[in-house]
Amino acid sequence: MKTVVPLIVLTVAITLASPSCDKGKPSVRDTDPVIVEAVSSVSEDNVRSYIDDLVGFHTRHTLSSQTDPSKGLGAAVDYLVKRCEEWSASAPSSRPRPIVETVLYTVGENGGRYDRVASVPEVMVTIPGTDPKSEILLLAHIDTRVINVMDSTAFAPGADDDGSGLACLLETVRILSGIPLKETVKCLFVSGEEQGLDGSRHFAEMAKAEGWPVLAVLSNDMIGNTRASGTELHEEYKVRVFSESANGEDSDSRQLARYIKEAASKYVPEQEVVLNYRSDRYRRGGDQLYFQRNGFNAVRVCEYCEDYERTHQDVRTENGTDYGDLAKYVDFPYLVRNIKINIASVMLLAMAPSRPSGVRIANANDLDNNTVISWKPVIGKDGLPDKNVTYQILCRETDRPDWLPAMPMGLPDTVSVPDSLPESGNMEYSCPLSKDNYYFAVRAVSDGHPSLPAVAR
Ligand SMILES: [Zn+2]
Repeated sequence: MKTVVPLIVLTVAITLASPSCDKGKPSVRDTDPVIVEAVSSVSEDNVRSYIDDLVGFHTRHTLSSQTDPSKGLGAAVDYLVKRCEEWSASAPSSRPRPIVETVLYTVGENGGRYDRVASVPEVMVTIPGTDPKSEILLLAHIDTRVINVMDSTAFAPGADDDGSGLACLLETVRILSGIPLKETVKCLFVSGEEQGLDGSRHFAEMAKAEGWPVLAVLSNDMIGNTRASGTELHEEYKVRVFSESANGEDSDSRQLARYIKEAASKYVPEQEVVLNYRSDRYRRGGDQLYFQRNGFNAVRVCEYCEDYERTHQDVRTENGTDYGDLAKYVDFPYLVRNIKINIASVMLLAMAPSRPSGVRIANANDLDNNTVISWKPVIGKDGLPDKNVTYQILCRETDRPDWLPAMPMGLPDTVSVPDSLPESGNMEYSCPLSKDNYYFAVRAVSDGHPSLPAVAR
Protein backbone atom coordinates (compact mmCIF):
# COMPACT_ATOMS: atom_id res chain seq x y z
CA MET A 1 0.00 0.00 0.00
CA LYS A 2 2.82 2.38 0.80
CA THR A 3 4.02 2.28 -2.80
CA VAL A 4 0.69 3.40 -4.27
CA VAL A 5 1.25 7.12 -4.19
CA PRO A 6 4.86 7.25 -5.40
CA LEU A 7 3.92 4.95 -8.30
CA ILE A 8 1.06 7.18 -9.29
CA VAL A 9 3.28 10.20 -9.02
CA LEU A 10 5.93 8.56 -11.16
CA THR A 11 3.35 7.58 -13.74
CA VAL A 12 2.06 11.10 -13.93
CA ALA A 13 5.71 12.21 -14.14
CA ILE A 14 5.01 15.83 -13.51
CA THR A 15 7.96 18.06 -12.89
CA LEU A 16 6.85 20.50 -10.35
CA ALA A 17 7.99 24.07 -10.60
CA SER A 18 8.15 24.85 -6.93
CA PRO A 19 10.38 27.78 -6.03
CA SER A 20 9.46 27.35 -2.38
CA CYS A 21 11.10 23.93 -2.11
CA ASP A 22 14.38 23.95 -0.26
CA LYS A 23 16.54 20.85 -0.53
CA GLY A 24 18.54 21.83 2.55
CA LYS A 25 15.72 21.58 5.08
CA PRO A 26 15.29 18.38 7.09
CA SER A 27 12.14 16.40 6.46
CA VAL A 28 10.32 14.20 8.97
CA ARG A 29 12.74 12.17 11.07
CA ASP A 30 12.59 8.42 11.36
CA THR A 31 13.46 8.61 15.04
CA ASP A 32 14.73 11.21 17.48
CA PRO A 33 17.45 10.00 19.90
CA VAL A 34 15.88 11.93 22.80
CA ILE A 35 12.60 10.09 22.31
CA VAL A 36 14.38 6.77 21.77
CA GLU A 37 16.18 7.19 25.09
CA ALA A 38 13.02 8.23 26.95
CA VAL A 39 11.11 5.27 25.55
CA SER A 40 13.88 2.85 26.46
CA SER A 41 13.87 4.10 30.05
CA VAL A 42 10.34 2.80 30.70
CA SER A 43 10.94 0.27 33.46
CA GLU A 44 8.95 -2.93 33.82
CA ASP A 45 10.08 -3.18 37.45
CA ASN A 46 8.68 0.28 38.15
CA VAL A 47 5.41 -0.56 36.43
CA ARG A 48 5.04 -3.74 38.47
CA SER A 49 5.73 -1.90 41.72
CA TYR A 50 3.17 0.84 40.94
CA ILE A 51 0.47 -1.73 40.26
CA ASP A 52 1.37 -3.78 43.36
CA ASP A 53 1.20 -0.61 45.44
CA LEU A 54 -2.13 0.45 43.93
CA VAL A 55 -3.69 -3.00 44.43
CA GLY A 56 -2.49 -2.77 48.03
CA PHE A 57 -5.03 -0.04 48.76
CA HIS A 58 -7.73 -2.79 48.79
CA THR A 59 -10.21 -0.59 46.93
CA ARG A 60 -9.97 2.80 45.24
CA HIS A 61 -13.74 3.14 44.88
CA THR A 62 -14.84 6.77 44.53
CA LEU A 63 -16.84 6.60 47.78
CA SER A 64 -14.23 4.56 49.68
CA SER A 65 -12.36 5.93 52.71
CA GLN A 66 -10.49 9.20 52.36
CA THR A 67 -9.06 9.04 55.88
CA ASP A 68 -7.69 5.49 56.24
CA PRO A 69 -3.91 5.81 55.75
CA SER A 70 -3.59 2.45 54.02
CA LYS A 71 -6.91 1.71 52.29
CA GLY A 72 -9.24 3.50 49.90
CA LEU A 73 -9.24 6.44 47.52
CA GLY A 74 -7.62 8.85 49.99
CA ALA A 75 -4.59 6.62 50.51
CA ALA A 76 -4.29 6.02 46.76
CA VAL A 77 -4.42 9.76 46.02
CA ASP A 78 -1.76 10.41 48.71
CA TYR A 79 0.43 7.78 47.06
CA LEU A 80 0.08 9.29 43.58
CA VAL A 81 0.80 12.78 44.90
CA LYS A 82 3.83 11.61 46.89
CA ARG A 83 5.40 9.76 43.98
CA CYS A 84 4.91 12.65 41.58
CA GLU A 85 6.23 15.19 44.12
CA GLU A 86 9.39 13.10 44.53
CA TRP A 87 10.04 13.19 40.78
CA SER A 88 9.19 16.88 40.63
CA ALA A 89 11.66 17.62 43.45
CA SER A 90 14.43 15.73 41.69
CA ALA A 91 13.78 17.33 38.27
CA PRO A 92 16.70 19.37 36.94
CA SER A 93 16.58 22.93 38.24
CA SER A 94 17.26 24.21 34.71
CA ARG A 95 13.61 23.72 33.80
CA PRO A 96 10.24 24.53 35.37
CA ARG A 97 9.41 21.78 37.85
CA PRO A 98 6.26 19.69 37.50
CA ILE A 99 3.38 21.00 39.62
CA VAL A 100 1.40 18.41 41.57
CA GLU A 101 -2.11 19.38 42.70
CA THR A 102 -5.00 17.62 44.38
CA VAL A 103 -8.32 18.83 43.03
CA LEU A 104 -11.67 18.31 44.80
CA TYR A 105 -15.11 18.10 43.22
CA THR A 106 -18.56 17.21 44.47
CA VAL A 107 -20.45 14.03 43.54
CA GLY A 108 -23.88 12.63 44.36
CA GLU A 109 -25.93 15.80 44.09
CA ASN A 110 -27.98 14.27 41.30
CA GLY A 111 -28.18 10.74 42.72
CA GLY A 112 -27.00 8.31 40.07
CA ARG A 113 -24.41 5.83 41.27
CA TYR A 114 -24.01 7.59 44.64
CA ASP A 115 -25.75 7.05 47.97
CA ARG A 116 -24.56 10.35 49.38
CA VAL A 117 -23.12 13.72 48.47
CA ALA A 118 -19.35 13.78 48.84
CA SER A 119 -16.33 15.84 48.00
CA VAL A 120 -13.82 13.57 46.24
CA PRO A 121 -10.21 14.12 45.17
CA GLU A 122 -8.30 13.66 41.95
CA VAL A 123 -4.78 14.57 40.94
CA MET A 124 -3.39 16.90 38.28
CA VAL A 125 0.31 16.94 37.44
CA THR A 126 1.40 19.75 35.12
CA ILE A 127 4.78 19.33 33.44
CA PRO A 128 5.38 22.85 32.13
CA GLY A 129 6.71 23.29 28.61
CA THR A 130 9.71 25.48 27.87
CA ASP A 131 7.79 27.60 25.31
CA PRO A 132 4.25 26.29 25.48
CA LYS A 133 1.48 27.14 23.07
CA SER A 134 -0.62 24.09 23.84
CA GLU A 135 -1.16 21.26 26.30
CA ILE A 136 -1.19 17.53 25.80
CA LEU A 137 -3.35 15.67 28.33
CA LEU A 138 -2.97 12.09 29.51
CA LEU A 139 -5.84 10.54 31.49
CA ALA A 140 -6.25 7.42 33.60
CA HIS A 141 -8.74 6.65 36.33
CA ILE A 142 -7.86 5.96 39.95
CA ASP A 143 -11.17 4.42 41.04
CA THR A 144 -12.09 0.74 40.96
CA ARG A 145 -15.24 -1.32 41.34
CA VAL A 146 -16.63 -4.82 41.82
CA ILE A 147 -19.86 -6.29 40.38
CA ASN A 148 -21.97 -4.04 42.60
CA VAL A 149 -20.88 -0.56 41.57
CA MET A 150 -22.22 0.84 44.86
CA ASP A 151 -19.99 -1.40 47.00
CA SER A 152 -17.23 0.91 48.26
CA THR A 153 -15.58 -1.49 50.75
CA ALA A 154 -15.13 -4.84 48.93
CA PHE A 155 -11.67 -5.82 47.61
CA ALA A 156 -11.49 -4.13 44.20
CA PRO A 157 -7.85 -4.41 43.09
CA GLY A 158 -8.20 -2.76 39.67
CA ALA A 159 -4.77 -3.92 38.46
CA ASP A 160 -5.68 -3.54 34.81
CA ASP A 161 -8.77 -1.30 35.20
CA ASP A 162 -7.21 1.09 35.58
CA GLY A 163 -3.96 0.38 37.43
CA SER A 164 -2.43 -0.11 33.98
CA GLY A 165 -3.39 3.43 32.93
CA LEU A 166 -2.20 4.89 36.25
CA ALA A 167 1.15 3.12 35.81
CA CYS A 168 1.41 4.69 32.35
CA LEU A 169 0.86 8.18 33.78
CA LEU A 170 3.28 7.59 36.66
CA GLU A 171 6.07 6.47 34.30
CA THR A 172 5.28 9.45 32.06
CA VAL A 173 5.61 11.89 34.98
CA ARG A 174 8.81 10.19 36.15
CA ILE A 175 10.48 10.26 32.74
CA LEU A 176 9.22 13.60 31.42
CA SER A 177 10.15 15.37 34.68
CA GLY A 178 13.73 15.12 33.46
CA ILE A 179 13.25 16.13 29.81
CA PRO A 180 12.49 19.69 28.71
CA LEU A 181 9.76 19.73 26.06
CA LYS A 182 8.34 22.74 24.23
CA GLU A 183 4.69 22.08 25.02
CA THR A 184 3.09 21.48 28.41
CA VAL A 185 2.04 17.94 29.36
CA LYS A 186 -0.68 17.39 31.95
CA CYS A 187 -1.33 14.03 33.58
CA LEU A 188 -4.85 13.83 35.02
CA PHE A 189 -5.47 11.02 37.51
CA VAL A 190 -9.27 11.06 37.66
CA SER A 191 -11.78 9.52 40.04
CA GLY A 192 -15.49 8.87 39.52
CA GLU A 193 -15.01 6.98 36.24
CA GLU A 194 -16.91 3.87 37.29
CA GLN A 195 -19.69 5.97 38.83
CA GLY A 196 -20.41 7.81 35.57
CA LEU A 197 -17.24 9.54 34.28
CA ASP A 198 -17.68 12.30 36.88
CA GLY A 199 -14.01 13.08 37.47
CA SER A 200 -13.16 13.46 33.80
CA ARG A 201 -16.32 15.50 33.26
CA HIS A 202 -15.14 17.79 36.05
CA PHE A 203 -11.71 18.19 34.43
CA ALA A 204 -13.15 18.62 30.92
CA GLU A 205 -15.51 21.35 32.11
CA MET A 206 -12.65 23.00 34.01
CA ALA A 207 -10.48 22.88 30.88
CA LYS A 208 -13.24 24.48 28.84
CA ALA A 209 -14.09 27.14 31.43
CA GLU A 210 -10.44 28.07 31.96
CA GLY A 211 -9.60 27.95 28.25
CA TRP A 212 -6.84 25.35 28.44
CA PRO A 213 -5.11 25.28 25.03
CA VAL A 214 -5.60 21.52 24.67
CA LEU A 215 -3.97 19.99 21.60
CA ALA A 216 -4.67 16.32 22.33
CA VAL A 217 -6.13 14.05 25.00
CA LEU A 218 -5.04 10.41 25.38
CA SER A 219 -7.16 8.45 27.84
CA ASN A 220 -5.48 5.22 28.91
CA ASP A 221 -8.03 2.83 30.33
CA MET A 222 -7.20 -0.90 30.47
CA ILE A 223 -3.93 -1.22 28.56
CA GLY A 224 -2.41 -4.28 30.26
CA ASN A 225 -4.41 -7.38 29.35
CA THR A 226 -3.83 -9.68 26.37
CA ARG A 227 -6.39 -12.47 26.88
CA ALA A 228 -9.94 -12.49 25.53
CA SER A 229 -12.22 -14.42 27.88
CA GLY A 230 -14.63 -16.80 26.17
CA THR A 231 -12.65 -17.04 22.92
CA GLU A 232 -9.14 -17.53 24.38
CA LEU A 233 -7.77 -15.22 21.72
CA HIS A 234 -4.46 -13.68 22.80
CA GLU A 235 -3.16 -10.49 21.23
CA GLU A 236 0.15 -9.46 22.72
CA TYR A 237 1.18 -7.06 19.96
CA LYS A 238 -1.98 -5.10 19.20
CA VAL A 239 -3.51 -2.12 20.98
CA ARG A 240 -6.64 -0.19 20.02
CA VAL A 241 -6.98 3.55 19.69
CA PHE A 242 -10.63 4.58 19.64
CA SER A 243 -11.46 7.81 17.82
CA GLU A 244 -14.91 9.33 17.42
CA SER A 245 -16.65 10.05 14.15
CA ALA A 246 -18.67 13.10 15.15
CA ASN A 247 -17.06 15.19 12.44
CA GLY A 248 -16.85 12.41 9.90
CA GLU A 249 -13.95 10.36 8.65
CA ASP A 250 -11.45 13.16 9.15
CA SER A 251 -12.35 14.30 12.66
CA ASP A 252 -9.53 15.73 14.75
CA SER A 253 -9.45 12.64 16.94
CA ARG A 254 -8.88 10.52 13.81
CA GLN A 255 -5.82 12.65 13.04
CA LEU A 256 -4.62 12.10 16.59
CA ALA A 257 -5.21 8.35 16.35
CA ARG A 258 -3.24 8.17 13.09
CA TYR A 259 -0.48 10.25 14.68
CA ILE A 260 -0.20 7.76 17.55
CA LYS A 261 -0.09 4.90 15.05
CA GLU A 262 2.76 6.57 13.17
CA ALA A 263 4.66 7.30 16.40
CA ALA A 264 4.26 3.67 17.47
CA SER A 265 5.50 2.41 14.09
CA LYS A 266 8.73 4.36 14.60
CA TYR A 267 9.41 3.96 18.33
CA VAL A 268 7.65 0.71 19.28
CA PRO A 269 7.49 -1.08 15.91
CA GLU A 270 6.72 -4.47 17.41
CA GLN A 271 3.37 -3.16 18.72
CA GLU A 272 0.59 -2.54 16.19
CA VAL A 273 -1.81 0.33 16.82
CA VAL A 274 -5.22 -0.68 15.48
CA LEU A 275 -7.35 2.34 14.63
CA ASN A 276 -10.88 1.75 15.88
CA TYR A 277 -13.33 4.15 14.25
CA ARG A 278 -15.70 4.18 17.22
CA SER A 279 -15.90 6.34 20.35
CA ASP A 280 -15.64 3.28 22.56
CA ARG A 281 -16.76 -0.33 22.88
CA TYR A 282 -20.35 -1.67 23.01
CA ARG A 283 -22.09 -0.63 26.24
CA ARG A 284 -18.89 0.92 27.57
CA GLY A 285 -17.51 4.41 27.79
CA GLY A 286 -14.42 6.12 29.06
CA ASP A 287 -12.92 9.38 30.23
CA GLN A 288 -12.25 10.58 26.68
CA LEU A 289 -16.00 11.07 26.13
CA TYR A 290 -16.53 14.22 28.22
CA PHE A 291 -13.45 15.77 26.64
CA GLN A 292 -14.92 15.03 23.22
CA ARG A 293 -18.28 16.45 24.28
CA ASN A 294 -16.58 19.65 25.44
CA GLY A 295 -14.96 20.06 22.05
CA PHE A 296 -11.49 18.62 22.75
CA ASN A 297 -9.53 16.26 20.56
CA ALA A 298 -9.60 13.04 22.58
CA VAL A 299 -8.96 9.34 21.98
CA ARG A 300 -8.95 6.22 24.13
CA VAL A 301 -6.02 3.82 24.19
CA CYS A 302 -7.21 0.32 25.18
CA GLU A 303 -6.01 -3.27 25.06
CA TYR A 304 -7.10 -5.27 21.99
CA CYS A 305 -8.54 -8.20 23.96
CA GLU A 306 -10.76 -7.91 27.03
CA ASP A 307 -11.08 -10.37 29.86
CA TYR A 308 -14.53 -10.17 31.43
CA GLU A 309 -13.41 -12.54 34.18
CA ARG A 310 -11.14 -9.76 35.44
CA THR A 311 -12.67 -6.30 35.20
CA HIS A 312 -15.61 -5.21 37.38
CA GLN A 313 -15.59 -8.62 39.12
CA ASP A 314 -15.63 -9.69 42.77
CA VAL A 315 -12.37 -11.48 43.55
CA ARG A 316 -13.49 -15.11 43.95
CA THR A 317 -13.37 -18.64 42.56
CA GLU A 318 -16.63 -19.93 41.13
CA ASN A 319 -17.13 -23.29 39.37
CA GLY A 320 -13.37 -23.62 39.11
CA THR A 321 -12.91 -20.23 37.45
CA ASP A 322 -10.90 -17.46 39.10
CA TYR A 323 -12.34 -13.97 38.88
CA GLY A 324 -10.88 -10.60 39.76
CA ASP A 325 -8.63 -7.85 38.39
CA LEU A 326 -5.38 -8.94 40.06
CA ALA A 327 -1.82 -7.97 39.15
CA LYS A 328 -0.89 -11.55 38.28
CA TYR A 329 -3.11 -11.36 35.20
CA VAL A 330 -1.48 -8.22 33.81
CA ASP A 331 0.82 -8.82 30.83
CA PHE A 332 3.62 -6.50 31.91
CA PRO A 333 5.78 -6.57 28.75
CA TYR A 334 2.63 -5.68 26.77
CA LEU A 335 1.77 -2.88 29.20
CA VAL A 336 5.32 -1.54 28.95
CA ARG A 337 5.02 -1.36 25.14
CA ASN A 338 1.77 0.60 25.46
CA ILE A 339 3.40 3.02 27.91
CA LYS A 340 6.23 3.50 25.41
CA ILE A 341 3.69 4.33 22.69
CA ASN A 342 2.15 6.99 24.95
CA ILE A 343 5.50 8.55 25.80
CA ALA A 344 6.68 8.59 22.17
CA SER A 345 3.39 10.14 20.99
CA VAL A 346 3.29 12.77 23.73
CA MET A 347 6.94 13.74 23.22
CA LEU A 348 6.51 14.04 19.45
CA LEU A 349 3.43 16.22 19.90
CA ALA A 350 5.27 18.32 22.50
CA MET A 351 8.31 18.85 20.24
CA ALA A 352 6.40 19.61 17.03
CA PRO A 353 5.53 23.08 15.72
CA SER A 354 1.96 24.35 15.86
CA ARG A 355 -0.55 22.76 13.55
CA PRO A 356 -1.13 24.70 10.30
CA SER A 357 -4.45 26.53 10.10
CA GLY A 358 -6.75 27.58 7.29
CA VAL A 359 -5.82 24.57 5.18
CA ARG A 360 -7.98 24.39 2.06
CA ILE A 361 -8.09 23.33 -1.55
CA ALA A 362 -7.58 26.65 -3.31
CA ASN A 363 -8.73 25.44 -6.74
CA ALA A 364 -11.74 23.46 -5.55
CA ASN A 365 -13.92 25.07 -8.23
CA ASP A 366 -11.54 24.44 -11.13
CA LEU A 367 -11.59 21.41 -13.43
CA ASP A 368 -7.89 20.85 -12.91
CA ASN A 369 -6.05 17.60 -12.24
CA ASN A 370 -3.53 19.45 -10.10
CA THR A 371 -4.68 20.19 -6.59
CA VAL A 372 -3.62 23.51 -5.13
CA ILE A 373 -3.42 23.41 -1.33
CA SER A 374 -3.15 26.65 0.61
CA TRP A 375 -2.68 27.32 4.33
CA LYS A 376 -1.63 29.96 6.82
CA PRO A 377 2.02 29.61 7.82
CA VAL A 378 2.99 29.12 11.46
CA ILE A 379 3.99 32.50 12.89
CA GLY A 380 7.26 32.86 14.78
CA LYS A 381 8.15 34.98 17.78
CA ASP A 382 8.92 37.98 15.54
CA GLY A 383 5.35 37.95 14.20
CA LEU A 384 6.52 36.76 10.77
CA PRO A 385 6.15 33.30 9.17
CA ASP A 386 8.52 30.99 11.01
CA LYS A 387 11.24 29.99 8.57
CA ASN A 388 12.37 27.13 10.80
CA VAL A 389 9.09 25.41 10.00
CA THR A 390 8.56 23.51 6.75
CA TYR A 391 5.38 21.82 5.56
CA GLN A 392 4.62 18.34 4.38
CA ILE A 393 1.64 17.67 2.14
CA LEU A 394 -0.15 14.42 2.88
CA CYS A 395 -2.72 12.53 0.86
CA ARG A 396 -5.01 9.60 1.37
CA GLU A 397 -7.28 7.79 -1.09
CA THR A 398 -10.80 8.05 0.26
CA ASP A 399 -10.96 4.48 1.58
CA ARG A 400 -7.41 4.33 3.00
CA PRO A 401 -6.73 4.63 6.73
CA ASP A 402 -3.28 6.23 6.71
CA TRP A 403 -1.80 9.44 5.33
CA LEU A 404 1.08 9.20 2.88
CA PRO A 405 3.40 11.95 1.66
CA ALA A 406 1.97 13.57 -1.45
CA MET A 407 5.25 15.14 -2.51
CA PRO A 408 6.51 13.85 -5.88
CA MET A 409 9.52 11.55 -5.62
CA GLY A 410 12.80 13.22 -6.36
CA LEU A 411 11.70 16.55 -4.91
CA PRO A 412 12.17 17.68 -1.32
CA ASP A 413 9.45 16.20 0.83
CA THR A 414 8.69 19.40 2.68
CA VAL A 415 7.86 22.90 1.43
CA SER A 416 9.74 25.86 2.90
CA VAL A 417 8.50 29.38 3.46
CA PRO A 418 9.54 31.46 0.41
CA ASP A 419 11.24 34.83 0.75
CA SER A 420 8.02 36.57 -0.17
CA LEU A 421 4.54 35.21 0.24
CA PRO A 422 1.62 36.20 -2.00
CA GLU A 423 -0.55 39.10 -0.84
CA SER A 424 -2.90 36.69 0.92
CA GLY A 425 -0.03 35.75 3.24
CA ASN A 426 -0.86 32.11 2.58
CA MET A 427 1.45 29.27 1.67
CA GLU A 428 0.50 27.44 -1.51
CA TYR A 429 1.50 24.16 -3.08
CA SER A 430 0.36 22.59 -6.33
CA CYS A 431 0.21 18.82 -6.11
CA PRO A 432 -0.06 16.66 -9.22
CA LEU A 433 -2.78 14.47 -7.72
CA SER A 434 -6.49 14.96 -8.37
CA LYS A 435 -8.65 16.31 -5.55
CA ASP A 436 -11.31 13.89 -6.82
CA ASN A 437 -9.20 10.89 -5.88
CA TYR A 438 -7.60 11.96 -2.60
CA TYR A 439 -8.10 13.69 0.69
CA PHE A 440 -5.29 16.14 1.47
CA ALA A 441 -3.76 17.44 4.67
CA VAL A 442 -0.79 19.60 5.67
CA ARG A 443 1.46 19.20 8.66
CA ALA A 444 4.13 21.54 9.94
CA VAL A 445 7.62 20.11 10.53
CA SER A 446 10.41 21.52 12.63
CA ASP A 447 13.67 19.77 13.43
CA GLY A 448 12.16 16.64 11.90
CA HIS A 449 9.13 16.60 14.21
CA PRO A 450 5.72 16.71 12.53
CA SER A 451 2.62 18.44 13.92
CA LEU A 452 -0.83 16.90 13.84
CA PRO A 453 -2.07 17.06 10.24
CA ALA A 454 -4.70 19.69 9.37
CA VAL A 455 -7.13 18.42 6.75
CA ALA A 456 -7.82 20.52 3.65
CA ARG A 457 -11.53 21.35 3.62
ZN1 LIG B 1 -11.71 1.65 33.33
